[in-house]
Amino acid sequence: MRDPGRERQALVLSASPYGDDDRILRLLVPEDGRVGAFQRGGRRKPAGLDVGVRALVHLRARTGGLETLGAVTVEDARVHLRRGYGRLAFAQLGCELVGAFSREGHPEPKLFGLLETFLLLLDAVQTDPSAAFLAAMELKVLTFAGVGAAFDRCAVCGLPPEAEMNFDAEHGGARHVGCGGGRLVPLAALAELELLRRTPLRELVDHPGGEGSEPMAAELVRAQLGRELGARALLTGLQ
Ligand SMILES: [Zn+2]
Repeated sequence: MRDPGRERQALVLSASPYGDDDRILRLLVPEDGRVGAFQRGGRRKPAGLDVGVRALVHLRARTGGLETLGAVTVEDARVHLRRGYGRLAFAQLGCELVGAFSREGHPEPKLFGLLETFLLLLDAVQTDPSAAFLAAMELKVLTFAGVGAAFDRCAVCGLPPEAEMNFDAEHGGARHVGCGGGRLVPLAALAELELLRRTPLRELVDHPGGEGSEPMAAELVRAQLGRELGARALLTGLQ
């Protein structure tokens, strides 16, 4: 019997042209995690499923890896976000980041909620948020994916920080100098990493940062993925 399919709320993580007419989309769906979907004629559709858009979509399983995308109702096109290159680059990085840490065929309601909040805030602000806002998103994604690092204690012995602390992105984050490994970092940068991880995103839109924590958050992402996010090159080009 033909699969009747299902209607789902989805965030668009990426959209790639396929041939002259079609598109392949990566979606994040609370109930299903990351979904690859084929949209026949998608390149000719006026209402675009661009990166960061939230939509109600009809999905139907088919043989092979991709699902078939049917009817689409755009719920939030994030029109303001697309007026600022910086905000758009942030949105692309957030979507790529969440796509890299979300699983296929596994519910991801927390990552969906986090990405939706991130995109709503980017769409609502008048100017580009700081790098600290992006770092906070990176730290929260790592935590939700179960690969968070230690900042307010030593990753090796679990005891509180001492006057000098090392940081090792590959091996759990902060560590006492005497516990071995990593490089010396300012205590203020570790304290800020902890603050960014714990504070809700909506309270960090105007957070100035500047303690040196932002490159460390990016380093943690790189250490987990074993590669740089493609969208980071775009962002670096803007700064
Ligand atoms: Zn220690």
